[in-house]
Amino acid sequence: MNGAWIDVDLDAVRSNYRSVLGLLHPGARVMAVVKADAYGLGAVEVARTLQGEGCSAFAVTTVVEGLLLREHGIKGVILVLGPADRNELPQALTGRLHLTLSSIAQLEALQDVAEQMEVKAEVHLKLETGMGRTGFSPEELPELARCLQDAHFIKVEGTYTHLARAGQRDQAYTKNQYDQFIADVNVLAKAGIEPRWQHVCNSAGFLDYPEWHLDFVRVGTLLIGHLPGLGFRGRLTLTDPWAARCRIISLRKVPQGTHVGYQSVYRTRRETQLAVIPLGYADGFGVEPRLIPQGLVDLLKIFIKNTALWLGFSLGQDKLTLNGYVVRVAGKIGMQLTVLDVGLQACRLGDVVEVPLRRASANPRLPRRYWSEGRILSERCMKEGFLLLSPEYPTSAE
Ligand SMILES: *Cc1c(COP(=O)(O)O)cnc(C)c1O
Repeated sequence: MNGAWIDVDLDAVRSNYRSVLGLLHPGARVMAVVKADAYGLGAVEVARTLQGEGCSAFAVTTVVEGLLLREHGIKGVILVLGPADRNELPQALTGRLHLTLSSIAQLEALQDVAEQMEVKAEVHLKLETGMGRTGFSPEELPELARCLQDAHFIKVEGTYTHLARAGQRDQAYTKNQYDQFIADVNVLAKAGIEPRWQHVCNSAGFLDYPEWHLDFVRVGTLLIGHLPGLGFRGRLTLTDPWAARCRIISLRKVPQGTHVGYQSVYRTRRETQLAVIPLGYADGFGVEPRLIPQGLVDLLKIFIKNTALWLGFSLGQDKLTLNGYVVRVAGKIGMQLTVLDVGLQACRLGDVVEVPLRRASANPRLPRRYWSEGRILSERCMKEGFLLLSPEYPTSAE
């Protein structure tokens, strides 16, 4: 392997899936959410592994993601959670993807295309109960029911909603969402729309509300070895399948007081060694979602964390390890190169550093190596050469 790569342990994914099965309400099935390239791990490899374990339902955000799974031998249900564009519909239907309907306009477009192709479109209705994103509101249900009665090329297989605050200690909002969902399902049933499947739970909902597992639980976070919140510690055994690694590509000894990086925000405090690694924010390193404090305690935590960082302490996420030692980022993380202060410990050019890389933001360009039973099963690489123009691409103004 060259400069930087990601090791993915498929046995860990398997074991996480089994842990989820162990808590599953009888009668419910797992719909494995493998959107965003299975949160960075690799959608095809993760889905294949889970299919091998008996998993027969998957969910992604886009039609393209769904088709990729089909092309690579994933059978069973593949549900597209996001709204599909009209021009993606023919391929989606050919690939027998289940589509989400969340507006009347989408319903009409799909009915048109399915009728032209003379195929039945299989859909799940998304009900808006408090996420504030997509879905039919309670007021739209009568019109939805009316349109569905005439939509002979649409087969409604399921209804679902998405929980906004599952995992929070205050359960009132989540319970309201569930009650709204059940009320909506009943309204649809009265109008003759009675799909065979209902699903509500994401990972946090799955853990907190076993009585809401219904026909499917849509679980992603747990399968990739994360808990959906600190409050869930000890609830099930998860194994982390992910390790981002890279090699030291430059190493030099420097005296005390050496300035490092942009704006010289870092200055060595004693004689030390500086190591350069071929990873930066373009790879997703040091890229964190914007933190919005939920209350004063949270605000205080964010403040303390940032103060600690400023004082030069490494906390949790910011810990890199080299030969078993924790090492620190020196200065600002660059676009593709980052400097580490590795002290005077024995280390050499080419030594491997383990980096805390946020999975869903990890650049797909980083090669993945898939491990099972202590050996590499497969690898996934993208072509180097950042820009591959197709021959049809117009090269001059016409
Ligand atoms: C991402 C997503 C899930 C899975 O959520 P996790 O918390 O990762 O388990 C379930 N349902 C929908 C609609 C999603 O977008």
